[in-house]
Amino acid sequence: MTTPDRERYSANRAFVLLATVFALLFGGVVALLAFDQHRVLEASQRLQQETVPEIIRFQRLARNLDQLRQEGERLFSAGTPEGRQQSLFIVMLVASHPSILEHPQSAETARDTENFLVETSRRAGADPALLKARHAEWLNYSKRLSLLVDDLSVQGASLATDDLANMVAVMRLARIKLLGALVLVGCFLLLMMLLLRQHLIRPLQRIDQALSSLGVDRPAPEFPDVRLTEIHAVEEATKRLHAEMVSNEEARRELELLASRDGLTGLMNRRHFMLLAQAELQRAHRYGRPIAVALGDLDFFKRLNDTYGHGAGDVVLRTFAGLLAESVRQSDLVCRYGGEEFAFLFPESSVEQARILVERFRQRFADHDIRLPDGLLVRVTLSIGLADASRCPIEVALQHADYALYEAKRLGRNRVIVADETT
Ligand code: GH3
Ligand code: MG
Ligand code: MG
Repeated sequence: MTTPDRERYSANRAFVLLATVFALLFGGVVALLAFDQHRVLEASQRLQQETVPEIIRFQRLARNLDQLRQEGERLFSAGTPEGRQQSLFIVMLVASHPSILEHPQSAETARDTENFLVETSRRAGADPALLKARHAEWLNYSKRLSLLVDDLSVQGASLATDDLANMVAVMRLARIKLLGALVLVGCFLLLMMLLLRQHLIRPLQRIDQALSSLGVDRPAPEFPDVRLTEIHAVEEATKRLHAEMVSNEEARRELELLASRDGLTGLMNRRHFMLLAQAELQRAHRYGRPIAVALGDLDFFKRLNDTYGHGAGDVVLRTFAGLLAESVRQSDLVCRYGGEEFAFLFPESSVEQARILVERFRQRFADHDIRLPDGLLVRVTLSIGLADASRCPIEVALQHADYALYEAKRLGRNRVIVADETT
């Protein structure tokens, strides 16, 4: 019985598909991480190669401006024209320093400060009291310079702060992305495991169970519908295997029956009778139970054959077998021993009890009209030799029965003779 066809997938294709999805997913995660790492690396390189030199440049500029301020201060506090000249010289040197010139705001402040100091120094040569008069104005320049120095220091520091904040932001984003990617990969792996369990492991377990309990006396294995072609194929093969086992068993039983039965009469054949009789005898001997054997032979059967034909003889044999089947007990064994000879085994029966049984049968058969193929009615008689089998092997008991049968023939046929224990 096959399940209605539904769409199935090849396990190989499903595996390739899942592996591709996983590779893409995993590749994407790796690429994402590599990209983020690259950004962090770039930011740290920028910090090292651009921001740090820039900070140093700002620091140097601030230091120069501060030096300008200090030299201006010294110019005002110098007691001699030489001292003022020296400070002015340094002021001019610092004010024309490239680090100041390349920064417009600093350059302007430095130029203004320099001009003020040059003019003050020149005029103080003629009037030293001027220094005192212009000191208040100088304090403005000095303050402007101080503010600029502070401003530049803060600007330098904030450059580093910006870069570091940028890096932290990138790293934070990378961490979120990494977490998201890991959750995604984890979910995918979980899904894969569930799919594996549902579509591969569980069906395989069911097949294993079905194969382990496969038997001719068991019902055919049943499987729920599956999605994988290969699993479906194995399940179908398991069902076919069961069907083959059942049909093989049927064939074997048929053959066994053929091998144990006589083709013409349908009675047990001699080989099978001997096997069963031996087992029955063993049991009877072991428990000391009574058991008897008999050999029956149709009288003047050759004459019947010669008179009415072989076909008529066959009909008689079959009729005889049919009567036998109706007459003997379930536990009794009967077989076609040879041409028109039949053997009997009567378990749990003494010779006397068996004698009553066979005598009844002999009489029944002798009184029975047999219709031949041409419509004629005939009667056939039977001679029987009976022997006790409770104390000897089956072969010996049958030999005794055969002697008794010979005696029955000799005494005129159509009778039952019990073997003499002494012969
Ligand atoms: P007796 O009373 O002494 O037993 O004489 P009988 O003729 O029965 O014995 P005999 O052994 O001389 O002949 C047995 C005959 O049975 C010979 C054979 O042709 C016949 N016979 C054996 N098997 C079959 C069979 O399958 N079908 C038929 N129709 N005849 C068979
Ligand atoms: Mg005969
Ligand atoms: Mg015979």
